[in-house]
Amino acid sequence: MEKKDNESMSREHEREPLLLLTGEPELIPWDVETDVLIIGGGGCGLIAALAAAEKGARVFLVEKEKAAGGNTSLSQAMVPAAGTSFQREAGIEDSRDLMAEDILKKNRQGSDPELTHHVAAESSRLVEWLDRNMGIRLELVTDFIYPGHSRLRIHANKTRKGAHLVNDLLQAATRRDPIDIAYKAPAKRLVVDQKTGAVLGAEVEIEGVGRNLAKARETILALNGFGANREMLAKYIPEMKDAYYFGHEGNIGEGILWGEALGAELENMGAYQAHGSVAHPHGTLLTFATISFGGYHVNLQGKRFVNEYHGYSEHALDVLAQEQGVAISVFDERCYQAVLGFEDFQQCIRMGALKKFDHIRELARAFRVPEEAMEKTHESFQKAALGESMDPLGRKDFNGPLTSPLYGVKVTGALFHTQGGLKINQQAQVLRKDGSVVPNLYAGGGTASGFSGKAGPAGYLSANGLLAALVLGKIAGEKAAEAALAQR
Ligand SMILES: Cc1cc2nc3c(=O)[nH]c(=O)nc-3n(C[C@H](O)[C@H](O)[C@H](O)COP(=O)(O)OP(=O)(O)OC[C@H]3O[C@@H](n4cnc5c(N)ncnc54)[C@H](O)[C@@H]3O)c2cc1C
Repeated sequence: MEKKDNESMSREHEREPLLLLTGEPELIPWDVETDVLIIGGGGCGLIAALAAAEKGARVFLVEKEKAAGGNTSLSQAMVPAAGTSFQREAGIEDSRDLMAEDILKKNRQGSDPELTHHVAAESSRLVEWLDRNMGIRLELVTDFIYPGHSRLRIHANKTRKGAHLVNDLLQAATRRDPIDIAYKAPAKRLVVDQKTGAVLGAEVEIEGVGRNLAKARETILALNGFGANREMLAKYIPEMKDAYYFGHEGNIGEGILWGEALGAELENMGAYQAHGSVAHPHGTLLTFATISFGGYHVNLQGKRFVNEYHGYSEHALDVLAQEQGVAISVFDERCYQAVLGFEDFQQCIRMGALKKFDHIRELARAFRVPEEAMEKTHESFQKAALGESMDPLGRKDFNGPLTSPLYGVKVTGALFHTQGGLKINQQAQVLRKDGSVVPNLYAGGGTASGFSGKAGPAGYLSANGLLAALVLGKIAGEKAAEAALAQR
């Protein structure tokens, strides 16, 4: 292949997801050569880089933005893991099988059962490895249990802030020699040997440098899903195509499209995670904990509309179905104090999203909700929370009645990230429709098919996102490094 000038390559990549090579790869004027090329510097990519480098592979990671992090930075760093030493210390008995069963129950058997069990089994290895090998401690979250998890198994950093986890991962990466990271360096398409279909690397555009051909023995796709791509949303998740997207804008599904062009199987493309508690119009996350500690939601008619405890992801559609697509979140001082540790919640406070009232009628007036209806709803909720009556909406988890002063926050539903993508095997290798492996290609995180069912928001069990990103990232990094080193 003759090396093309920047402009013609630029025009080409707009049309073509793959750069197909017909000549001998050795004759191509590559700009960079590495063992493992990682595309995307969020949780999946950074963990993959650390795992590959630990095995002794040279790693080149390219990140589209000027900083690493992606959705992982926006997350609350909640990572599920079963059978960890942190659980044992807290006296929690858990098992990989129980965790896999919880995931499969929530997604209605909508993910590959063997892969789900495998990832659940690897989850404790990830948390212990982060602690012992990378110096990054995730503690067991013991103050509340997320719906659908039958054990306390969510692990998070102290601040419950993904940006801090990303910083810790970057710090760990600087301690490893063979990891090079290029920022403002979006990969534009994969370079593929036309004869064999093997991935040889990627064409990358590095700001200030220009088009760059990166050769890699193995390539890992860690560039998340298509939450920011309205066209793909219209095709696969039409109900969320116009919803507020709360995730990282750089995630436009390119990795999935490249894989598709290589004949990879796409799986569970209609699945996604959403959230029904995004402060509106502030655009900050109130967190689900205001509900789990005892709060509730009403619509602008002052009526509760669903058991809000059934899951925060599916709750987004419930909220969006209400007048103006909003609800009012009502909780008390006890919930407020319990959630104060979340940085997202503190941001809501700083931005003035919370309003405080002595009486439920004052809250109703402030949000232009009919006072009488609001008072009736509140009384009925209190009775159910006291156990004096059954909740008409079937809620069973209350944490006792609310006491004044009360807080109110207007919230809306938002799309957080997509969960469908490239089908992979237990080594995180990308699979074609006939079940064969795409040579030299791995995927994890939002680029791979997730564990949240075939379609819709309801199959998402809390923390499935980082499960797919971090556990698959570690597997992909390790396996890609082993394969690359075997070729040296
Ligand atoms: C507000 C919020 C809170 C959340 N909280 C949790 C939680 O507590 N627990 C949980 O399990 N999940 C949570 N999630 C979901 C979770 O954040 C994601 O599932 C996970 O971070 C995905 O990781 P990733 O590495 O696949 O993608 P990302 O972290 O998004 O990283 C992808 C990276 O790829 C880069 N990129 C994209 N295209 C290219 C390209 N062409 N070339 C180079 N780089 C590219 C992007 O810029 C980005 O940095 C939350 C999501 C949101 C939005």
